[in-house]
Amino acid sequence: MNEADSDRVASALERLGYTFSPVIEEADVIVLNTCVVRQSAEEKAVGRLTTLLPTKRQRPDLVINMMGCMVGIKGDNPLHKRFPYVDVFSPPSDPGPLVEFLIQRDIQDAEAAETARRYALMDSDLTLPGLLVGKQVSGFIPIVYGCSHACTYCIIPYRRGIEKSRPPEEIIPEAESMVAQGIKEITLLGQIVDRYGKDEPSYPTLAKLLERLSQIEGLERLRFLTSHPNWMTDELLEAVATLPKVMPHIEIPNQAGDDQVLANMRRGYTANQYRQLVHKIRERIPNVSIATDIIVGFPGETAAQFQNTFDLLTELRLDMVHLARYSPRKGTVSERMLPDDVSEEEKWQRFRAIERLQGEVMREIHARYLSQTVPILFEEKEKKRWKGRTPTNKLVFVESADDLHGKVLPVHITWTGPWSMLGELVE
Ligand code: SAH
Repeated sequence: MNEADSDRVASALERLGYTFSPVIEEADVIVLNTCVVRQSAEEKAVGRLTTLLPTKRQRPDLVINMMGCMVGIKGDNPLHKRFPYVDVFSPPSDPGPLVEFLIQRDIQDAEAAETARRYALMDSDLTLPGLLVGKQVSGFIPIVYGCSHACTYCIIPYRRGIEKSRPPEEIIPEAESMVAQGIKEITLLGQIVDRYGKDEPSYPTLAKLLERLSQIEGLERLRFLTSHPNWMTDELLEAVATLPKVMPHIEIPNQAGDDQVLANMRRGYTANQYRQLVHKIRERIPNVSIATDIIVGFPGETAAQFQNTFDLLTELRLDMVHLARYSPRKGTVSERMLPDDVSEEEKWQRFRAIERLQGEVMREIHARYLSQTVPILFEEKEKKRWKGRTPTNKLVFVESADDLHGKVLPVHITWTGPWSMLGELVE
Protein backbone atom coordinates (compact mmCIF):
# COMPACT_ATOMS: atom_id res chain seq x y z
CA MET A 1 0.00 0.00 0.00
CA ASN A 2 2.87 2.35 0.79
CA GLU A 3 4.50 1.61 -2.53
CA ALA A 4 1.23 2.47 -4.24
CA ASP A 5 1.02 5.68 -2.22
CA SER A 6 4.58 6.60 -3.18
CA ASP A 7 3.81 5.98 -6.86
CA ARG A 8 0.86 8.31 -6.51
CA VAL A 9 3.04 11.09 -5.06
CA ALA A 10 5.58 10.51 -7.81
CA SER A 11 2.93 10.94 -10.54
CA ALA A 12 1.60 14.08 -8.85
CA LEU A 13 5.11 15.55 -8.70
CA GLU A 14 5.89 14.60 -12.30
CA ARG A 15 2.70 16.34 -13.38
CA LEU A 16 4.03 19.47 -11.63
CA GLY A 17 7.22 19.14 -13.67
CA TYR A 18 9.45 17.55 -11.03
CA THR A 19 11.88 14.81 -12.05
CA PHE A 20 12.98 11.80 -10.07
CA SER A 21 16.40 11.92 -8.46
CA PRO A 22 17.95 8.54 -7.70
CA VAL A 23 20.44 10.27 -5.39
CA ILE A 24 18.52 11.37 -2.32
CA GLU A 25 20.99 14.08 -1.29
CA GLU A 26 20.65 15.75 -4.70
CA ALA A 27 16.88 16.07 -4.48
CA ASP A 28 15.11 19.33 -3.71
CA VAL A 29 12.04 17.57 -2.37
CA ILE A 30 12.26 14.38 -0.31
CA VAL A 31 9.18 12.34 0.45
CA LEU A 32 9.53 9.94 3.37
CA ASN A 33 6.68 7.47 3.37
CA THR A 34 6.18 5.93 6.81
CA CYS A 35 4.75 2.71 8.21
CA VAL A 36 3.75 2.06 11.82
CA VAL A 37 2.26 -1.41 11.63
CA ARG A 38 4.99 -2.61 14.00
CA GLN A 39 7.36 -0.77 16.32
CA SER A 40 10.33 -1.78 14.14
CA ALA A 41 8.80 -0.10 11.08
CA GLU A 42 8.20 3.09 13.05
CA GLU A 43 11.77 3.09 14.35
CA LYS A 44 13.11 2.67 10.83
CA ALA A 45 11.05 5.61 9.62
CA VAL A 46 12.43 7.81 12.39
CA GLY A 47 15.93 6.52 11.63
CA ARG A 48 15.61 7.42 7.96
CA LEU A 49 14.35 10.86 8.85
CA THR A 50 17.32 11.44 11.15
CA THR A 51 19.73 10.66 8.31
CA LEU A 52 18.23 13.61 6.41
CA LEU A 53 19.02 16.08 9.16
CA PRO A 54 22.59 17.01 8.05
CA THR A 55 21.39 17.63 4.49
CA LYS A 56 18.54 19.80 5.74
CA ARG A 57 20.98 21.83 7.88
CA GLN A 58 23.23 22.40 4.87
CA ARG A 59 20.34 23.22 2.58
CA PRO A 60 17.44 24.77 4.49
CA ASP A 61 15.54 25.11 1.19
CA LEU A 62 15.27 21.36 0.95
CA VAL A 63 11.63 20.33 1.31
CA ILE A 64 11.04 17.32 3.54
CA ASN A 65 7.62 15.71 3.37
CA MET A 66 6.63 13.08 5.90
CA MET A 67 3.78 10.99 4.66
CA GLY A 68 1.77 7.93 5.62
CA CYS A 69 0.65 6.14 8.73
CA MET A 70 3.00 7.92 11.11
CA VAL A 71 1.06 11.08 10.24
CA GLY A 72 -2.34 9.35 10.04
CA ILE A 73 -5.67 10.83 9.05
CA LYS A 74 -6.10 13.14 12.02
CA GLY A 75 -4.55 16.52 11.26
CA ASP A 76 -3.79 17.43 14.88
CA ASN A 77 -0.61 15.44 15.22
CA PRO A 78 2.16 16.30 17.67
CA LEU A 79 4.76 15.50 15.02
CA HIS A 80 5.43 19.18 14.23
CA LYS A 81 7.07 19.50 17.61
CA ARG A 82 8.98 16.27 17.43
CA PHE A 83 10.26 16.86 13.88
CA PRO A 84 10.42 20.63 13.37
CA TYR A 85 12.58 20.24 10.27
CA VAL A 86 9.81 18.45 8.39
CA ASP A 87 8.15 20.98 6.08
CA VAL A 88 4.97 19.11 5.17
CA PHE A 89 3.01 16.28 6.78
CA SER A 90 0.62 14.23 4.62
CA PRO A 91 -1.83 11.50 5.56
CA PRO A 92 -1.65 8.11 3.80
CA SER A 93 -2.49 8.02 0.06
CA ASP A 94 -2.73 11.81 -0.20
CA PRO A 95 -0.19 13.85 -2.18
CA GLY A 96 -2.44 16.91 -1.69
CA PRO A 97 -0.61 18.71 1.15
CA LEU A 98 2.76 18.40 -0.61
CA VAL A 99 1.40 19.54 -3.96
CA GLU A 100 -0.28 22.50 -2.27
CA PHE A 101 2.94 23.39 -0.44
CA LEU A 102 5.03 23.25 -3.62
CA ILE A 103 2.59 25.33 -5.64
CA GLN A 104 2.69 28.01 -2.93
CA ARG A 105 6.47 27.86 -2.79
CA ASP A 106 6.75 28.19 -6.57
CA ILE A 107 4.55 31.28 -6.47
CA GLN A 108 6.68 32.88 -3.77
CA ASP A 109 10.12 31.74 -4.86
CA ALA A 110 10.86 32.23 -8.56
CA GLU A 111 14.31 30.67 -8.34
CA ALA A 112 13.03 27.49 -6.72
CA ALA A 113 10.26 27.36 -9.32
CA GLU A 114 12.98 27.27 -12.00
CA THR A 115 15.67 25.13 -10.47
CA ALA A 116 14.61 23.15 -7.42
CA ARG A 117 12.66 20.48 -9.23
CA ARG A 118 14.13 17.11 -8.35
CA TYR A 119 12.36 14.77 -5.96
CA ALA A 120 13.38 11.60 -4.15
CA LEU A 121 11.29 8.96 -2.42
CA MET A 122 12.14 7.01 0.69
CA ASP A 123 10.20 4.67 2.86
CA SER A 124 10.85 3.05 6.21
CA ASP A 125 12.85 0.21 4.69
CA LEU A 126 14.32 1.20 1.40
CA THR A 127 14.81 3.84 -1.21
CA LEU A 128 11.96 3.51 -3.62
CA PRO A 129 12.82 3.62 -7.30
CA GLY A 130 9.98 6.04 -7.95
CA LEU A 131 7.68 6.05 -10.89
CA LEU A 132 10.08 5.60 -13.76
CA VAL A 133 7.45 5.91 -16.43
CA GLY A 134 7.78 3.12 -18.97
CA LYS A 135 10.24 1.28 -16.76
CA GLN A 136 8.00 -0.47 -14.27
CA VAL A 137 6.50 -3.81 -15.25
CA SER A 138 4.24 -4.21 -12.27
CA GLY A 139 2.03 -1.59 -10.66
CA PHE A 140 -0.38 -1.26 -7.76
CA ILE A 141 -3.87 0.20 -7.64
CA PRO A 142 -5.51 0.70 -4.26
CA ILE A 143 -9.19 -0.15 -4.72
CA VAL A 144 -10.21 -0.05 -1.06
CA TYR A 145 -8.80 2.62 1.24
CA GLY A 146 -8.82 2.24 5.02
CA CYS A 147 -10.30 -0.63 6.97
CA SER A 148 -13.32 -1.08 9.26
CA HIS A 149 -12.55 -4.54 10.65
CA ALA A 150 -11.08 -3.84 14.05
CA CYS A 151 -8.56 -6.64 14.62
CA THR A 152 -7.50 -6.00 18.20
CA TYR A 153 -3.76 -5.72 17.41
CA CYS A 154 -3.99 -3.53 14.35
CA ILE A 155 -3.35 0.19 14.10
CA ILE A 156 -4.20 0.53 10.41
CA PRO A 157 -7.88 1.53 10.85
CA TYR A 158 -6.78 4.34 13.20
CA ARG A 159 -4.24 5.67 10.73
CA ARG A 160 -5.88 5.00 7.38
CA GLY A 161 -9.49 5.57 8.41
CA ILE A 162 -12.67 3.65 7.69
CA GLU A 163 -13.14 1.40 4.72
CA LYS A 164 -13.87 3.19 1.48
CA SER A 165 -14.01 1.52 -1.91
CA ARG A 166 -12.99 3.55 -4.92
CA PRO A 167 -15.45 3.88 -7.79
CA PRO A 168 -14.83 1.66 -10.81
CA GLU A 169 -14.95 4.80 -12.97
CA GLU A 170 -11.74 5.84 -11.24
CA ILE A 171 -10.04 2.44 -11.15
CA ILE A 172 -10.57 1.35 -14.76
CA PRO A 173 -9.09 4.46 -16.46
CA GLU A 174 -6.20 4.35 -13.98
CA ALA A 175 -5.49 0.75 -14.98
CA GLU A 176 -5.81 1.63 -18.68
CA SER A 177 -3.39 4.50 -18.36
CA MET A 178 -0.87 2.33 -16.47
CA VAL A 179 -1.03 -0.29 -19.22
CA ALA A 180 -0.63 2.43 -21.86
CA GLN A 181 2.57 3.43 -20.04
CA GLY A 182 3.94 -0.10 -20.26
CA ILE A 183 2.68 -1.78 -17.08
CA LYS A 184 2.04 -5.50 -17.68
CA GLU A 185 0.85 -6.58 -14.26
CA ILE A 186 -1.55 -4.83 -11.91
CA THR A 187 -2.10 -5.74 -8.28
CA LEU A 188 -5.30 -4.43 -6.73
CA LEU A 189 -4.87 -3.44 -3.11
CA GLY A 190 -7.00 -3.21 -0.03
CA GLN A 191 -6.63 -4.08 3.64
CA ILE A 192 -9.56 -6.43 3.02
CA VAL A 193 -9.57 -6.37 -0.74
CA ASP A 194 -12.26 -9.04 -1.08
CA ARG A 195 -14.68 -6.62 0.61
CA TYR A 196 -14.39 -4.35 -2.42
CA GLY A 197 -17.74 -2.64 -3.05
CA LYS A 198 -19.38 -3.88 0.15
CA ASP A 199 -19.56 -0.29 1.41
CA GLU A 200 -21.14 0.95 -1.82
CA PRO A 201 -23.91 -1.25 -3.23
CA SER A 202 -23.79 0.33 -6.69
CA TYR A 203 -20.19 -0.82 -7.21
CA PRO A 204 -19.36 -4.15 -8.86
CA THR A 205 -17.98 -7.04 -6.82
CA LEU A 206 -14.23 -7.71 -6.93
CA ALA A 207 -14.93 -10.67 -9.27
CA LYS A 208 -16.79 -8.38 -11.68
CA LEU A 209 -14.09 -5.74 -11.45
CA LEU A 210 -11.43 -8.34 -12.30
CA GLU A 211 -13.54 -9.42 -15.27
CA ARG A 212 -13.74 -5.83 -16.48
CA LEU A 213 -10.00 -5.17 -16.00
CA SER A 214 -9.18 -8.42 -17.80
CA GLN A 215 -10.48 -6.82 -20.98
CA ILE A 216 -7.66 -4.27 -21.05
CA GLU A 217 -5.52 -5.08 -24.03
CA GLY A 218 -1.82 -5.32 -23.28
CA LEU A 219 -2.39 -6.15 -19.63
CA GLU A 220 -0.89 -9.57 -18.93
CA ARG A 221 -1.53 -10.25 -15.29
CA LEU A 222 -3.88 -9.28 -12.46
CA ARG A 223 -3.51 -9.99 -8.75
CA PHE A 224 -5.23 -8.71 -5.61
CA LEU A 225 -4.28 -8.51 -1.97
CA THR A 226 -4.97 -8.86 0.92
CA SER A 227 -8.09 -10.98 1.34
CA HIS A 228 -9.87 -11.79 4.60
CA PRO A 229 -11.16 -15.39 4.93
CA ASN A 230 -14.71 -14.28 5.72
CA TRP A 231 -15.18 -12.41 2.46
CA MET A 232 -13.71 -14.90 0.01
CA THR A 233 -16.79 -15.71 -2.09
CA ASP A 234 -17.33 -18.58 -4.51
CA GLU A 235 -17.84 -15.95 -7.20
CA LEU A 236 -14.33 -14.59 -6.55
CA LEU A 237 -12.74 -18.06 -6.59
CA GLU A 238 -14.58 -18.75 -9.83
CA ALA A 239 -13.18 -15.53 -11.31
CA VAL A 240 -9.63 -16.51 -10.35
CA ALA A 241 -10.15 -20.00 -11.74
CA THR A 242 -11.61 -18.91 -15.07
CA LEU A 243 -10.15 -15.51 -16.00
CA PRO A 244 -6.82 -16.23 -17.69
CA LYS A 245 -5.24 -12.92 -16.71
CA VAL A 246 -6.06 -13.31 -13.02
CA MET A 247 -3.13 -15.20 -11.52
CA PRO A 248 -3.65 -18.30 -9.35
CA HIS A 249 -2.37 -16.54 -6.27
CA ILE A 250 -4.35 -15.79 -3.11
CA GLU A 251 -3.04 -13.82 -0.13
CA ILE A 252 -5.23 -14.72 2.80
CA PRO A 253 -3.93 -14.07 6.31
CA ASN A 254 -4.55 -16.69 8.93
CA GLN A 255 -2.73 -14.82 11.77
CA ALA A 256 -3.05 -17.76 14.19
CA GLY A 257 -4.02 -21.41 14.16
CA ASP A 258 -5.55 -21.41 17.64
CA ASP A 259 -9.21 -20.58 18.22
CA GLN A 260 -8.71 -18.74 21.49
CA VAL A 261 -5.94 -16.58 20.02
CA LEU A 262 -8.08 -15.93 16.92
CA ALA A 263 -10.94 -14.86 19.17
CA ASN A 264 -8.61 -12.58 21.17
CA MET A 265 -7.50 -11.07 17.88
CA ARG A 266 -11.17 -10.71 16.82
CA ARG A 267 -10.44 -12.18 13.43
CA GLY A 268 -13.94 -13.61 13.06
CA TYR A 269 -13.16 -17.22 12.08
CA THR A 270 -11.83 -20.43 13.60
CA ALA A 271 -8.78 -22.45 12.62
CA ASN A 272 -11.05 -25.08 11.13
CA GLN A 273 -12.92 -22.53 9.02
CA TYR A 274 -9.56 -21.33 7.71
CA ARG A 275 -8.53 -24.93 6.95
CA GLN A 276 -11.79 -25.57 5.06
CA LEU A 277 -11.32 -22.41 3.05
CA VAL A 278 -7.80 -23.45 2.02
CA HIS A 279 -9.20 -26.80 0.86
CA LYS A 280 -11.91 -25.06 -1.10
CA ILE A 281 -9.48 -22.65 -2.76
CA ARG A 282 -7.26 -25.57 -3.76
CA GLU A 283 -10.21 -27.50 -5.18
CA ARG A 284 -11.45 -24.60 -7.26
CA ILE A 285 -8.15 -23.22 -8.53
CA PRO A 286 -5.68 -25.73 -9.90
CA ASN A 287 -2.02 -25.09 -8.95
CA VAL A 288 -3.00 -22.13 -6.79
CA SER A 289 -0.45 -20.58 -4.51
CA ILE A 290 -1.69 -19.41 -1.13
CA ALA A 291 0.17 -16.93 1.03
CA THR A 292 -0.65 -16.09 4.61
CA ASP A 293 0.28 -13.73 7.43
CA ILE A 294 1.07 -15.02 10.92
CA ILE A 295 1.62 -13.14 14.16
CA VAL A 296 3.55 -15.01 16.85
CA GLY A 297 3.54 -14.06 20.52
CA PHE A 298 0.13 -12.41 20.66
CA PRO A 299 -0.72 -11.52 24.30
CA GLY A 300 -1.51 -14.64 26.27
CA GLU A 301 -0.39 -17.04 23.53
CA THR A 302 0.74 -20.19 25.37
CA ALA A 303 3.25 -22.69 24.03
CA ALA A 304 0.35 -25.06 23.30
CA GLN A 305 -1.58 -22.37 21.42
CA PHE A 306 1.48 -21.53 19.37
CA GLN A 307 1.84 -25.24 18.63
CA ASN A 308 -1.65 -25.17 17.11
CA THR A 309 -0.49 -22.48 14.68
CA PHE A 310 2.66 -24.45 13.91
CA ASP A 311 0.65 -27.64 13.36
CA LEU A 312 -1.87 -25.94 11.10
CA LEU A 313 0.92 -24.57 8.90
CA THR A 314 2.62 -27.97 8.88
CA GLU A 315 -0.64 -29.51 7.72
CA LEU A 316 -1.65 -26.87 5.16
CA ARG A 317 1.82 -26.33 3.64
CA LEU A 318 1.10 -22.86 2.28
CA ASP A 319 3.28 -21.24 -0.35
CA MET A 320 4.36 -18.24 1.66
CA VAL A 321 4.15 -17.01 5.24
CA HIS A 322 4.60 -13.32 6.05
CA LEU A 323 5.71 -13.63 9.65
CA ALA A 324 5.60 -11.03 12.40
CA ARG A 325 6.31 -10.95 16.10
CA TYR A 326 3.48 -9.25 17.99
CA SER A 327 4.22 -5.58 18.54
CA PRO A 328 1.87 -3.58 20.77
CA ARG A 329 0.60 -0.49 18.93
CA LYS A 330 -0.52 2.44 21.00
CA GLY A 331 -4.27 2.90 21.19
CA THR A 332 -5.20 -0.53 19.82
CA VAL A 333 -7.49 -2.81 21.83
CA SER A 334 -4.82 -5.41 22.57
CA GLU A 335 -2.36 -2.77 23.69
CA ARG A 336 -4.89 -1.29 26.12
CA MET A 337 -6.47 -4.53 27.38
CA LEU A 338 -3.85 -7.26 27.23
CA PRO A 339 -0.35 -7.39 28.70
CA ASP A 340 2.39 -8.06 26.12
CA ASP A 341 3.37 -11.11 28.14
CA VAL A 342 5.21 -13.35 25.70
CA SER A 343 8.92 -12.59 26.16
CA GLU A 344 11.00 -11.26 23.27
CA GLU A 345 13.07 -14.41 23.43
CA GLU A 346 10.00 -16.62 23.22
CA LYS A 347 8.63 -14.57 20.31
CA TRP A 348 11.91 -15.03 18.47
CA GLN A 349 11.90 -18.78 19.13
CA ARG A 350 8.37 -19.11 17.75
CA PHE A 351 9.30 -16.90 14.82
CA ARG A 352 12.34 -19.03 13.98
CA ALA A 353 10.42 -22.28 14.37
CA ILE A 354 7.91 -21.18 11.72
CA GLU A 355 10.66 -19.74 9.56
CA ARG A 356 12.44 -23.12 9.56
CA LEU A 357 9.23 -25.02 8.88
CA GLN A 358 8.33 -22.67 6.04
CA GLY A 359 11.79 -23.00 4.48
CA GLU A 360 11.24 -26.74 4.26
CA VAL A 361 7.70 -26.36 2.94
CA MET A 362 8.84 -23.93 0.25
CA ARG A 363 11.78 -26.12 -0.74
CA GLU A 364 9.31 -28.97 -1.20
CA ILE A 365 6.75 -26.91 -3.15
CA HIS A 366 9.39 -25.36 -5.41
CA ALA A 367 10.93 -28.76 -6.16
CA ARG A 368 7.71 -29.63 -7.98
CA TYR A 369 8.56 -26.93 -10.53
CA LEU A 370 11.81 -28.63 -11.52
CA SER A 371 11.95 -29.52 -15.25
CA GLN A 372 8.61 -27.82 -15.85
CA THR A 373 8.09 -25.03 -18.35
CA VAL A 374 6.45 -22.00 -16.79
CA PRO A 375 5.46 -18.59 -18.25
CA ILE A 376 7.59 -15.94 -16.57
CA LEU A 377 6.92 -12.21 -16.54
CA PHE A 378 10.32 -10.54 -16.49
CA GLU A 379 10.82 -7.39 -14.42
CA GLU A 380 14.44 -6.31 -14.31
CA LYS A 381 18.03 -7.37 -14.66
CA GLU A 382 20.04 -7.92 -11.49
CA LYS A 383 23.70 -8.31 -12.44
CA LYS A 384 23.73 -10.99 -15.15
CA ARG A 385 20.33 -12.44 -14.41
CA TRP A 386 16.84 -11.36 -15.32
CA LYS A 387 14.37 -11.51 -12.47
CA GLY A 388 10.82 -12.62 -13.13
CA ARG A 389 7.85 -14.29 -11.56
CA THR A 390 5.70 -17.34 -12.15
CA PRO A 391 1.90 -16.99 -12.24
CA THR A 392 2.03 -18.22 -8.63
CA ASN A 393 4.31 -15.26 -7.77
CA LYS A 394 7.51 -17.25 -7.27
CA LEU A 395 10.84 -15.69 -8.10
CA VAL A 396 12.74 -17.06 -11.09
CA PHE A 397 16.16 -15.93 -12.34
CA VAL A 398 17.26 -16.45 -15.92
CA GLU A 399 20.62 -15.61 -17.48
CA SER A 400 20.17 -13.84 -20.79
CA ALA A 401 21.83 -11.10 -22.80
CA ASP A 402 18.51 -10.22 -24.45
CA ASP A 403 16.16 -7.51 -23.26
CA LEU A 404 13.45 -9.43 -21.44
CA HIS A 405 11.96 -6.41 -19.68
CA GLY A 406 8.17 -6.70 -19.49
CA LYS A 407 8.02 -9.88 -21.57
CA VAL A 408 6.19 -13.05 -20.68
CA LEU A 409 8.23 -16.01 -21.91
CA PRO A 410 8.25 -19.75 -21.31
CA VAL A 411 11.08 -20.81 -19.02
CA HIS A 412 12.38 -24.29 -18.32
CA ILE A 413 13.11 -24.56 -14.59
CA THR A 414 16.58 -26.04 -13.97
CA TRP A 415 17.13 -25.50 -10.23
CA THR A 416 14.89 -24.81 -7.26
CA GLY A 417 15.56 -23.68 -3.71
CA PRO A 418 13.36 -22.47 -0.85
CA TRP A 419 13.38 -18.81 -1.91
CA SER A 420 13.83 -18.80 -5.69
CA MET A 421 14.41 -20.85 -8.82
CA LEU A 422 16.70 -20.74 -11.82
CA GLY A 423 15.65 -21.42 -15.38
CA GLU A 424 16.49 -21.15 -19.06
CA LEU A 425 14.51 -19.55 -21.82
CA VAL A 426 12.81 -22.10 -24.02
CA GLU A 427 13.98 -21.45 -27.58
N1 SAH B 1 -5.17 -5.96 6.24
C1 SAH B 1 -4.42 -7.15 6.16
C2 SAH B 1 -2.93 -6.91 6.38
C3 SAH B 1 -2.57 -5.80 7.29
S1 SAH B 1 -0.96 -5.42 7.84
C4 SAH B 1 -4.98 -8.12 7.16
O1 SAH B 1 -5.37 -7.73 8.22
O2 SAH B 1 -5.06 -9.31 6.90
C5 SAH B 1 0.06 -6.71 7.44
C6 SAH B 1 0.32 -7.67 8.55
O3 SAH B 1 1.02 -7.08 9.61
C7 SAH B 1 -0.91 -8.26 9.19
O4 SAH B 1 -1.50 -9.24 8.42
C8 SAH B 1 -0.35 -8.80 10.48
O5 SAH B 1 0.12 -10.11 10.31
C9 SAH B 1 0.81 -7.87 10.76
N2 SAH B 1 0.51 -6.99 11.90
C10 SAH B 1 -0.46 -6.06 12.00
N3 SAH B 1 -0.44 -5.49 13.22
C11 SAH B 1 0.55 -6.09 13.91
C12 SAH B 1 1.06 -5.96 15.24
N4 SAH B 1 0.53 -5.10 16.10
N5 SAH B 1 2.11 -6.72 15.60
C13 SAH B 1 2.64 -7.61 14.74
N6 SAH B 1 2.21 -7.77 13.49
C14 SAH B 1 1.16 -7.04 13.08
